[in-house]
Amino acid sequence: MAGVKDYSNSSVARNREQIEYHVREILKLIGEDVKREGLLETPARVTRMYEEIFAGYEVDPRDVLGVTFDEQHEELVIVKDIVYYSQCEHHMAPFFGKAHIGYIPSGKIAGLSKLARLVEAVTRRLQVQERITSQIADILEEKLEPHGVMVVVEGEHLCMCSRGVKKPGSKTVTSAVRGQFRNSSTLRSEFLSLIKE
Ligand SMILES: [Zn+2]
Repeated sequence: MAGVKDYSNSSVARNREQIEYHVREILKLIGEDVKREGLLETPARVTRMYEEIFAGYEVDPRDVLGVTFDEQHEELVIVKDIVYYSQCEHHMAPFFGKAHIGYIPSGKIAGLSKLARLVEAVTRRLQVQERITSQIADILEEKLEPHGVMVVVEGEHLCMCSRGVKKPGSKTVTSAVRGQFRNSSTLRSEFLSLIKE
């Protein structure tokens, strides 16, 4: 995972003992024997996992885009297949998939790896897929002031969310459009066909 790597002073790290304690309590409350061998290290493992999957809380997603200036390029830029892993805020269950970002610069551009960092900062926390999609679009719009932005997020949810019981393997697709993408079906189609290739 690029970017958000130092967890030593994260909220999870600072509260490690308490989190381990409460995970152990939940294990007891669901009827488990916390002394059996397979579970001895589970509270510590869950806490270490939380450090990584909740690392997004340690950064402000609005700060991760290194914006540079490039007056030349005003054509569609697409970064597709950015893999993310997030946690549904309704069930604390994983959902994951790919994010695709397209924008038309108007003088400001962002490094391609910075777009992946933005996705990471937004997804490594309790989330819903719809908000991930709109937050990415809104931050790009605010920081790059592009002519237009389109974000498509695909997700497979390991919970039965408010949309009802889903079959394994089914995907939820969300999109957000800003600026020129709103008014141009040609532009939206171009983006969609390019991310499918
Ligand atoms: Zn859920």
